[in-house]
Amino acid sequence: MKFLEKFDPQLIIESPGRINLIGEHTDYNLGYVLPTAIEKKIIFRLQKNGSETECNIYSTDFDTGFKIDLRTIARSSVEWENYILGVLNEISKRTDGVIGFDCTLESNLPQGSGLSSSAALECGLAFGLNELFDLGLTKMDIVQLSQTAEHTYVGTQCGIMDQFASVMSQTGHVILLDCKSLEHSQIPIAFEPYQMVMLNTKVSHNLATSEYNVRKQECEEGVAIIKNKYPEVDSLRDATRDMLEAVKHEMSDVVFDRCSFIISENERVLLMAEALKKNDLNRVGALLYEAHEGISKLYEVSCPESDFLVDFSKDFPAVLGARQTGGGFGGCTLNIVHKDAVDDFIQQASTAYKSRFNIALEAFTVRPSAGTMVR
Ligand code: ADP
Ligand code: MG
Repeated sequence: MKFLEKFDPQLIIESPGRINLIGEHTDYNLGYVLPTAIEKKIIFRLQKNGSETECNIYSTDFDTGFKIDLRTIARSSVEWENYILGVLNEISKRTDGVIGFDCTLESNLPQGSGLSSSAALECGLAFGLNELFDLGLTKMDIVQLSQTAEHTYVGTQCGIMDQFASVMSQTGHVILLDCKSLEHSQIPIAFEPYQMVMLNTKVSHNLATSEYNVRKQECEEGVAIIKNKYPEVDSLRDATRDMLEAVKHEMSDVVFDRCSFIISENERVLLMAEALKKNDLNRVGALLYEAHEGISKLYEVSCPESDFLVDFSKDFPAVLGARQTGGGFGGCTLNIVHKDAVDDFIQQASTAYKSRFNIALEAFTVRPSAGTMVR
């Protein structure tokens, strides 16, 4: 793109991906989650370009870019452009402080792998524009407008976790977030002598967006049935197992299983928070395996590749627990592995995975890292 010839960035923003220790699909059910940012991130470089309305965006990873006229922001037929356009659209509803700018982005964060490159993209841009133009947005504004951008421009009816984790995380901590009240606390985690190892299945089954929205609808269907009998229930977060059992005969088996998973998963987040505070690592691991069982059998958002890796880890004494993380249908599994066995585990998992699926596994360790920042 032409602007790259005289690109002299005034601002560099680091916008991280995230993992979620536990609490899958609970965010849009207004329950609890336990995410943290990781050290893999998207780097944004920004400059004002002196124009009133012309903006240029270039993705180094895609080696492509596009021009935007701020007077005519609209959805694009190119998927990744919608994350950018959606954020600009949301910002324009709050302030008219954005004028012409140029931006490049460069990433070492795998896409579509459950590490939320989408939230990193939205929040990083919003954070960067807020700094560049002194827009006066709070971190919470950035989180919320980024979530709305994903709803309106991309079409994924995501909860608030990904954006919240990308922006609000602190080094060495996971966030216990109540997605209803947005109350949150930072819980220090020291897994020593264990490490968090991500195994990337390298598959991203195309169902992710459509099935995500279907799961959301199934949960809403469940809530409506429970609410008939228990008017105080506004989301699955408010429902108990007894309430669900009391209306079981009124719902399909599928809706029952979805609700059952969410109710248990919410409980598991709180149990996990307790286990972390006591540094009870065996309990941490057991909760991960339990969660994966629910993800696979009740919520049905796993896939053969993720199930294979989680099962494989069970034969490995140095692994305390594992589960698929993220929206589902592939992406990464999170494994808690003794540090002395990490290399061996990765090597054996890679060999087994290659011979079963003929796919080269990608593996890396992650540490709880800081949220979006100016470099
Ligand atoms: P996840 O959030 O789990 O990574 P999503 O499907 O929600 O998966 O978001 C991935 C999408 O985000 C990509 O398909 C692309 O449209 C956009 N994206 C992520 N990183 C980049 C990047 N570096 N450059 C351009 N687009 C990106
Ligand atoms: Mg995403």
